[in-house]
Amino acid sequence: MKTENSKVNGIQKKYETVSSDVLIIGAGGAGLRAAIEAFDNEASVVVVSKSLLGKAHTVMAEGGIAASVANVDSKDNWKVHFSDTIVEGVYIGNWRMAEIMTKEAPDRVYELERYGALFDRTPDGKIMQRAFGAHTYRRLCHVGDKTGLELIRTLEDQILHRDVNVMDEVFITKLFIKNNSVSGALGIRLRTGEIILFRTKTVILCTGGAGRLYKVTSNSWESTGDGIALAYNAGAELMDMEMIQFHPTGMVYPPGVKGLLVTEGIRGEGGILLNAKGERFMLRYSPEKKELDARDVVARAIHSEIEAGRGTEHNAVYLDISQKGAKFIHQKLPGMYSQFMDFAGVDITKQPMEVAPTVHYQMGGIRVDPETCRTNIKGLFAAGEVASGLHGANRLGGNSLADILVFGKRAGLAAAIYSSKTALSSISTEEISKEIARINSFANKKKGLNPQTIIKVIGETMSEKVGIVRDGKDLGLALTKIQALRKKAKNVGVSGSLKFNPGLLSCLEVEGMLTTAEAIIRSAIARKESRGAHTRKDFPKKDPKFKKNILSYKNGNSMKLKMVSVPSMPDRLKQLVKLEVY
Ligand SMILES: Cc1cc2nc3c(=O)[nH]c(=O)nc-3n(C[C@H](O)[C@H](O)[C@H](O)COP(=O)(O)OP(=O)(O)OC[C@H]3O[C@@H](n4cnc5c(N)ncnc54)[C@H](O)[C@@H]3O)c2cc1C
Repeated sequence: MKTENSKVNGIQKKYETVSSDVLIIGAGGAGLRAAIEAFDNEASVVVVSKSLLGKAHTVMAEGGIAASVANVDSKDNWKVHFSDTIVEGVYIGNWRMAEIMTKEAPDRVYELERYGALFDRTPDGKIMQRAFGAHTYRRLCHVGDKTGLELIRTLEDQILHRDVNVMDEVFITKLFIKNNSVSGALGIRLRTGEIILFRTKTVILCTGGAGRLYKVTSNSWESTGDGIALAYNAGAELMDMEMIQFHPTGMVYPPGVKGLLVTEGIRGEGGILLNAKGERFMLRYSPEKKELDARDVVARAIHSEIEAGRGTEHNAVYLDISQKGAKFIHQKLPGMYSQFMDFAGVDITKQPMEVAPTVHYQMGGIRVDPETCRTNIKGLFAAGEVASGLHGANRLGGNSLADILVFGKRAGLAAAIYSSKTALSSISTEEISKEIARINSFANKKKGLNPQTIIKVIGETMSEKVGIVRDGKDLGLALTKIQALRKKAKNVGVSGSLKFNPGLLSCLEVEGMLTTAEAIIRSAIARKESRGAHTRKDFPKKDPKFKKNILSYKNGNSMKLKMVSVPSMPDRLKQLVKLEVY
């Protein structure tokens, strides 16, 4: 690391410089798996994360990793998993990404086991698998209800045994692009306020989702869509941004934990949903799959029950697993038992839980090439929740942990190969100084607008107008609101310095949140149909005209949209899928 100075308009800007072949932004499952692969393919690797190493959002994953290892249901194989993924993505998912993921997920699970992950076991000692919504077979390899924690613990252990430079609590604010190629990035070390310039041949964005744009979400504080905005501003294409997954079951009280996830594992292990009248309403909405239908179906059913006045006093429905008995629950769902006992004083071995939908996952994101995860910007790659294509209009539970392992590895390999043939390029001092000045402008601003006032309104706008059921009028109002907030956001600032200042972090996040929100809303306005997670009251049916992917991209200072055809599936795969006419 070396310290440099740049001087623009007489202002001296001090920063450290860190150079690498591959810069990975994000230390969740995708980022750590990418780092292992890039390092093992002889690249020098830096990983940065705005949270502490080991604390990325992935640790929250509960239910498991979807992989057709067929330990529990011997008929399972990648072909069935492929069909489930395409069908539940309502035919706008990328067939090649689905093929790669379903074929390679078993290898990634066994690899994790070799790395030291302690999966739950079948009586004959194989990796245990559980049922999950809309998976034909019991397919989720799991570690109780703490699968993400074990996944991160295991990958972190691998990283610590390699010469990978991990810089945690560093927030990346900008990517530098020269001649349509990545040349570097700028970040701030949150603990000290130091500015760091990253000179790099490649960047892999593994920054996760954007659930924090909504008031009620299961997502961790990190999920503010930063990677989406970084990529968009760098000129990368976004795709299917309207596709936001509402998980059917989040906690509803006490207020401090509203939105916290109640794992699908509960329904997978036999939990049933009841309305306030005690009716098992999923029998009406989905007589065959019942509680284990796809997330969009179950979330809409719960929403409809509450709207029809059959919800509980907390605007929720009941989820009951008590019939399975205390021993079973303590063994299979220990985290859920503690979550309800500690936060709500509810003993789930004896009482039902109250649950309602919560924003959970972003199917849309940066458009990538299925084989290599590269974007349309040279040297820029994306993997994990920040990337789009695999899940189409709806993600199957368990497919994200498979996604981050499979495509994290592929992105790491592709970035290492690319960087071996590329030289570091220069970054203009003017651009560096401009960005440093932007960061500095938020600090020591006595009359600055508190960024939380903007973030609060973004949350309310997204939850109320861009929710589970949408319509053109509300979406239009939401867009107007976001545009007005963008003007207001110019005044955000905090009185303290750059050093260890949570208010400053919010200032840095706001602009990206507004960009991500705008892409979601504009794409939702453009998709004049209902498909998967995107439900329009004014266009309640699926429309063949919209069997398309919607791209959003930067054009000058404005956001443009374009519809593109879903890549056509080869015949060898078509025959695996229960295809509809559209
Ligand atoms: C409660 C819960 C349970 C879940 N359970 C499951 C499950 O059982 N199975 C399943 O398949 N999926 C599950 N999911 C979804 C899954 O956990 C996530 O989709 C997945 O972990 C995302 O991993 P990722 O590596 O893409 O990103 P993340 O794990 O979100 O990591 C993102 C990283 O990027 C960093 N970052 C972000 N912005 C910046 C920035 N500007 N600068 C520097 N660093 C930045 C963050 O600090 C973090 O390190 C669950 C999700 C939740 C919320």
